Amino acid sequence: MKTAILGAGVSGLALARRLAEGGLPASDVHLFEAGPVIGGLCRSKTVDGFTYDVSGGHILFSKDAPTMQWMRDCAGGDDAFVKRDRNTKIRFDDRWVHYPFENGLGDLPDGAKFDCLKGYVEAWHARQVDASAAPKDFKSWIQWRFGDGIAKHFMDPYNEKIWKRPLEQITSSWVAGRVPDAPIDDVLRAAIGIRTEGYTHQAIFYYPKQGGFQAITDGMGSTLAPQIRLNTRVESVTRHGDGWRVNGEDFDRVVNTIAMNDLPDIVEGIPDDVAAAMRGLAFNSIVCFLVALDRPEHPNLSWIYLPQHAQGPVNRATYMSNYSPGNAPEGKTSFLFEVTVPGGHAPPAGDLEAEVLRGVEHAGLLRRDEVLFTDRSFCKHAYIVYDHELDARRASSIAWCEANGIEPLGRFGHYDYFNSDQCVIASTALAERMLEQARTG
Ligand SMILES: Cc1cc2nc3c(=O)[nH]c(=O)nc-3n(C[C@H](O)[C@H](O)[C@H](O)COP(=O)(O)OP(=O)(O)OC[C@H]3O[C@@H](n4cnc5c(N)ncnc54)[C@H](O)[C@@H]3O)c2cc1C
Repeated sequence: MKTAILGAGVSGLALARRLAEGGLPASDVHLFEAGPVIGGLCRSKTVDGFTYDVSGGHILFSKDAPTMQWMRDCAGGDDAFVKRDRNTKIRFDDRWVHYPFENGLGDLPDGAKFDCLKGYVEAWHARQVDASAAPKDFKSWIQWRFGDGIAKHFMDPYNEKIWKRPLEQITSSWVAGRVPDAPIDDVLRAAIGIRTEGYTHQAIFYYPKQGGFQAITDGMGSTLAPQIRLNTRVESVTRHGDGWRVNGEDFDRVVNTIAMNDLPDIVEGIPDDVAAAMRGLAFNSIVCFLVALDRPEHPNLSWIYLPQHAQGPVNRATYMSNYSPGNAPEGKTSFLFEVTVPGGHAPPAGDLEAEVLRGVEHAGLLRRDEVLFTDRSFCKHAYIVYDHELDARRASSIAWCEANGIEPLGRFGHYDYFNSDQCVIASTALAERMLEQARTG
């Protein structure tokens, strides 16, 4: 069975690699990649000795230890990685606030601390008294879950920065399982200065010593070179008997990791209602700025959240040179600043870089005279936006693909809020199914 995999990001690469490990001949599996290099959202870039991840700061972590080990092994084994303790903060005026925010109330100035604590207790009490179900829209959910103080000082402004739309337009379903409930005792302790940790998700992470996060996908692809067609954009997928013809070449099976939004322009025969659903799947894009600094040291932080409007358009700043010493030349450091843009739109007109630098200088993260140079990248499909139509649009899009022999896979190919490890887990499961099919005929 000849298989076409559309896209050579981590999902496509992990699938091809797992199929090769399972004994499928290389001549049966072909990867089509529009870009000049593999890796997709996991790509990194090095400029004058400074390396950054072009789709936002990436770390390797997973609840699935064997998957994480496999990913490290693909990229040269444990010796090729730095192991780091996550140290994340929120910048609030001139203070560093412990993350998660509700476990850091003691770090706030008195006025904000009072607002947040009062609101948290009131919201907690209301939930005990009326046992209300979680509201469906995200704005109400924040209020219900954290109270009005945390909503006002952190959750609303931070989420408005990242999602770029009124929070009522987003569902609360995407936070299920992502934002654990902090016990009220921990929040009270934290507010009076007794440190409580909060969730320890990502407490330890790995990062490649050299080459940025892309070293992982480079490693995955290192044994697949003859199967990967770079600079080969998929422009047409047309029917051919029981199979499909990709850019005019016959295949028995197609696995898609390209953003589902793009399929109606490529794939033949998608009915209008399904095509509309695919096109309507909501996403945000991201602009990333590398800022190379003539400064030997940063605080010992992994990344920080910038919720306040006065801090400019950046929602997250990554201490890129703290991820690995290999990310900056000796005696220098670097930041990566992320700004989201509503999907399908160009970055805002005007000098975004100047706005970014003004904001982060105001936040006290750097001084302009330390900046050696900047570099920027743009990534169209970065975040899935959980608007109220997402579930229905996603269900009909996936159903049509599956019914028509196009296997959807990956963050935007399957429209799941997946990190790279979850992509690998999904690819591994699909490979097992395909290998089983090959065995049983
Ligand atoms: C801001 C941000 C931070 C993140 N942080 C982390 C993190 O810390 N840790 C982590 O594990 N994950 C993180 N992720 C998630 C991770 O990047 C993704 O889960 C993963 O890279 C998705 O891989 P994929 O192969 O499914 O999709 P993609 O990487 O999008 O791959 C799709 C591929 O298809 C190609 N393509 C597109 N159109 C065509 C076409 N017409 N023809 C041929 N090829 C085409 C693209 O060039 C691309 O290579 C983050 C993502 C973002 C946006």
